[in-house]
Amino acid sequence: MFEKVLIANRGEIALRVLRACRELGIKTVAVHSEADIEAKYVKLADESVCIGPAASAQSYLNVPAIIAAAEVTDAEAIHPGYGFLSENADFAERIENSGFVFIGPRAETIRLMGDKVSAKQAMIAANVPCVPGSGGALPEDPKEIFKIARSIGFPVIIKASGGGGGRGMRVVHTEGALLQAVSMTRTEAQAAFGNPTVYMEKYLENPRHVEIQVLADEHGNAVYLGERDCSMQRRHQKVIEEAPAPGIERKLIEQVGERCVEACKKIGYRGAGTFEFLYENGEFFFIEMNTRVQVEHPVTEMITGIDIVQEQIRVACGEKLRLRQKDVVLRGHALECRINAEDPFKFTPSPGRITNWHTPGGPGIRVDSHVYNGYLVPPHYDSMVGKVIAYGDTREQAIRRLRIALSEMVVEGIKTNIPLHQELLYDANFIRGGTSIHYLESRLAKKD
Ligand code: ADP
Repeated sequence: MFEKVLIANRGEIALRVLRACRELGIKTVAVHSEADIEAKYVKLADESVCIGPAASAQSYLNVPAIIAAAEVTDAEAIHPGYGFLSENADFAERIENSGFVFIGPRAETIRLMGDKVSAKQAMIAANVPCVPGSGGALPEDPKEIFKIARSIGFPVIIKASGGGGGRGMRVVHTEGALLQAVSMTRTEAQAAFGNPTVYMEKYLENPRHVEIQVLADEHGNAVYLGERDCSMQRRHQKVIEEAPAPGIERKLIEQVGERCVEACKKIGYRGAGTFEFLYENGEFFFIEMNTRVQVEHPVTEMITGIDIVQEQIRVACGEKLRLRQKDVVLRGHALECRINAEDPFKFTPSPGRITNWHTPGGPGIRVDSHVYNGYLVPPHYDSMVGKVIAYGDTREQAIRRLRIALSEMVVEGIKTNIPLHQELLYDANFIRGGTSIHYLESRLAKKD
């Protein structure tokens, strides 16, 4: 096992990775910006290095500073967490070229899956069901573009191959609007991602977001850890996640899960990863793969008893997966609420000093957060201050526990979205389960 791991991230995931390392007996190095010097995980880490000022571009995205920190502290491996540099193939490559281990897939896999056109082509080749589409980059010839759109059928969605974070997409309902939408998405994609390549997909009108968690080692073994439903979203940002996905036949999940495992083997995947799908009318359609640990990984941990971050570290170290598919047994139900420092209904960020912070507990409750009494939520980063996760034998019990947990939680000094979660946990459609990705936004729009 590694002796020392550097954690190239901040916030709750930095603490999560630190805990996994400690349990494995690994020493940790926290890197932090000037704004995060007071963070709890920075103090808990065996060593810490300041890598720059508050602005992420100069700190958490500062590759030379992170590699220099690994050099001076003699760390062997670097865990990228999520966000920041976690899906940056050049970062992974520079880490490996500098003689460290990147805790994640090989750089070429990140590159393959980071480009959505090549990712989709790889998935089609691996028999993973994809949204019907152009099958590759859109050509320049308008006649060809029309031909593709007609064969898919309107509405279609034009997507940037290099896109991410819900940006670089445009829905087109009519032929008349097609060419302009393609050219606008190309221009935007070039400006935002430095890559004008776009592709076309059938636009699914009322899908759910259901994703499959996988783990793979470098010896050709892979397993899937069931699925998560992350349909409760606002602006493509997940708000509540749960596992398993309500009301989907196990047999269908197994079929898709097995395809994902085969795909991992085919592309030589290593580490933890997530295949994201849209699910509509009983069918799964691949949209993209995340080649890192995800915010919502705890719901899977709760129903499988598997520590995904520890497994990630083990396989990065070259170990063989100890799990076989038959060892992955799903039990009960788990839900996660992302707690953000923001106005619960206007969604404006609410950074500042937390004057009172009390977290809930009790059976089946897990709180992943780096926050403490007196913590200053910096304005420079993502607004998430923690996650409250509830486990129950049934979905109903998990929901009940989550309601109780949120009612016990006290956060003063900043606003949070807890009131929104409390509403949603009593929402009849949510309680029924299986709402689409548009549900939250249409509910909010009605409220307005
Ligand atoms: P990103 O990498 O920017 O997150 P994704 O490809 O994962 O992009 O798509 C983000 C979101 O956009 C999806 O969760 C879904 O809400 C919507 N979306 C993407 N493709 C389609 C599609 N073909 N039909 C309907 N909605 C889509």
